[in-house]
Formats: sequence, structure tokens, C-alpha cells
Amino acid sequence: MKQHLIAATHPDRKKDDLILVTGAGGFIGGSLVRYFADQGFTNIRAVDKKPLPIWYQTTPGVKNLCLDLSEQPNCKRAVEGAVEVYNLAADMGGMGFIENFRVECMRSILINTHLIEEAYHAGVDRYFFSSSACAYNTDLQKDPNVRALKESDAYPAMAERGYGWEKLMSEMFCQEYAAERGMKTFIARFHNVYGPNGTWDGGREKAPAALTRKVIEAMDSGDLCIDIWGDGTQTRSFMFIDDCVKGVDLIMHCDDLIATPINLGTSKLVTINDLVSLIEDIAGVKLERHYQLDAPRGVAGRNSDNTFIKSILDWEPDTSLKTGMKKTYKWIKEQYEDRKAGKFTPAGKL
Ligand code: NAD
Repeated sequence: MKQHLIAATHPDRKKDDLILVTGAGGFIGGSLVRYFADQGFTNIRAVDKKPLPIWYQTTPGVKNLCLDLSEQPNCKRAVEGAVEVYNLAADMGGMGFIENFRVECMRSILINTHLIEEAYHAGVDRYFFSSSACAYNTDLQKDPNVRALKESDAYPAMAERGYGWEKLMSEMFCQEYAAERGMKTFIARFHNVYGPNGTWDGGREKAPAALTRKVIEAMDSGDLCIDIWGDGTQTRSFMFIDDCVKGVDLIMHCDDLIATPINLGTSKLVTINDLVSLIEDIAGVKLERHYQLDAPRGVAGRNSDNTFIKSILDWEPDTSLKTGMKKTYKWIKEQYEDRKAGKFTPAGKL
């Protein structure tokens, strides 16, 4: 039987050890902060470059700092006294953002480069980097009926332009800090994360949130049509946020995974059309589909091969898309109503 060590049960961890989470004003970072607070950790530092009023969520008792981590002095300040560092900060978004803002995506390399260096000098015990399935070789993702991507498929390298290359290079930084300097670094390649408290409007939202918003908008306006980017046959797998934060914790506390990139995603492949049908079912509506063939659509297909994570952790993300999307739909609907009522909703700015 494999040992499941999470932070709360790890023998080296004390509840008042300082945990740093970067990108904490965003979707996954904010959710990770809440997860550690729920586990009883009392000394959490949350950092993001966004001003605090526009963070997606904040957790009581956490020290929140507004710092731009692409600048080295700010990284030094952020890591001071930290025992564990979780780097979730990046300039990122859905396909619309990463295809149109490649420079911004690549400049995130400054964040990890400075943060890991300062973490090393500060004597941080464990360091986590949030990589992406976009690091995989795009030549293997030209068919919607893709075979799932296993960790070795990142090489020979032909990552997604901009964003994917930044992830691959930052992964390599983490690997070399482990090889040369003996740092305990951990790297997860996330596959499409969705759930409450994620971006749902404004240009950086990803497919599950964007399509949910469009269904809600169509019902609200009475114009029962939906625009779908591409022809709807693109395939992806989608991981619910609760699985993501648990997976990050499990990976970070597994010494067999030092400097070893690992998939963190579900292995259930669905088409964008399937996803739309699921949201329609949840909403209780049927919409006329308009396919936008010249819109950003990303690779034709992408799935996570979970053989490795199952063999190491005896676990894989397992929240069903239906369960996760029901919660996501409910949350976005509430946000939509709030915004309509004139309330400020940071994850869904107009
Ligand atoms: P997000 O955009 O919601 O959060 C990222 C946060 O990083 C933002 O709040 C942003 O303000 C912050 N940030 C950007 N530049 C910064 C800087 N210079 N200094 C400090 N903070 C900065 O995105 P997310 O979905 O929470 O993604 C978190 C991480 O997971 C990122 O590294 C992302 O690339 C990775 N990832 C996410 C997904 C996904 O499906 N959401 C998939 C693969 C990888």
C-alpha cells in the first residue's frame, strides 16, 4: 500500500511552518491558500501582483501581499522565512489569451527564475512549480483522437508557442536546481483546471467557464444561440479544482517525485461539443450552435496519461465532470446575477 502524505500528515511539517503561495489572487493559488488554511496551517503568506481588492478570493488569517514577482527584490521579500513555496503565479489565460499574448506568457519566466533563486538562498525546504500540458510536443496533439500524453512526451520538445516553452524552460530550472544544488523541487503539469473562483469573463477565461457563461447569457437574453470556438470536435480532459489542490499537496510531499514532472489532470477525454451538451443539461436548455472556425482553438486533442501518477501516488483526480460542472455552473450563475445587480465580481470583470 502506498503512503499518502499530504502537508498535514507529513512528519517534517509543523502547522506553523510558513507556507508561501504565489499567484494567490488568482484561481488555483487562491484555492490552494484556502486548502492549507482548512488543513489547519496557521502561517500562510499569499502573494500576487494584483491589488488586493481584485483578488478572486482571500482567506481569513492569511497574510496577503501585493508584490510583482518578476522583480528579484520582491521575490526575496516573498520567500523570507518560508519553509515551502508554491509558485502558481503566471500571466496566463485560455486559448484566446495564450495564442494572442505570447510575449506576456513568456515573460512569466522571470517569476520562476527569480523566485527559485531566492527560495534557494532562503533555505526553503520544498519548492513547487505549476507547469502545464502546454509543455508537451504539439506534433502529438494534431488529432482529436489523441493518445493520452505521458510525461516523456515533452521531449523531443515542440511545446505550445510562447506559454508552453516558458513552462518547459521553467521546469528545467527546477530540475537543475535539484541536480546541481540539491533543492527539493516538484513539478506538476496541470491539464485544464476548472471550478468556482476561476476567471469566467474578460478574455482570460478557459473553455468550461466561457461556455458556462455563454449558456447563462443566452438564457438571460432569450437569444438561444451559442458561439463555439472551432468546430467543437476538439478534445480535452478537465480537472476539478478540489482535485488540483489535493494533487499539488500530494506531489509536493512525495520524495519519489523530486525534480520529476508529473501529469496532474483527469484522463477522461471529452469533446467541446460534449462539454456544451453537459452545460445545457445542467441549465435545462438547448441552444443553436454557431461554430467560429477562425477563432483560437488550440491543439486538436489533448489528454492526460495517468499511469505514472497512479503508480506513484495510488491516486488520480476523480471528480466527475458532471459533479464539477454543476458546482461551477452554480457559482458562475451567482456571479453573473451579482454583476447584473451592480456588484463587483473580480473573476468576471466586464
Ligand atoms: P490565474 O490567472 O487565475 O492566476 C495567476 C495569478 O498570477 C494571477 O492572479 C496573476 O495576477 C498572478 N501573477 C501574474 N504575474 C505575476 C507577477 N509578476 N507577480 C505576482 N503575481 C503574478 O491562473 P490559474 O489558473 O490560477 O493558474 C495558476 C498556475 O497554474 C499558472 O502557473 C498556470 O500557468 C498554471 N496552469 C493553469 C491551468 C488552468 O487550467 N487553470 C492549466 C495549466 C497550468
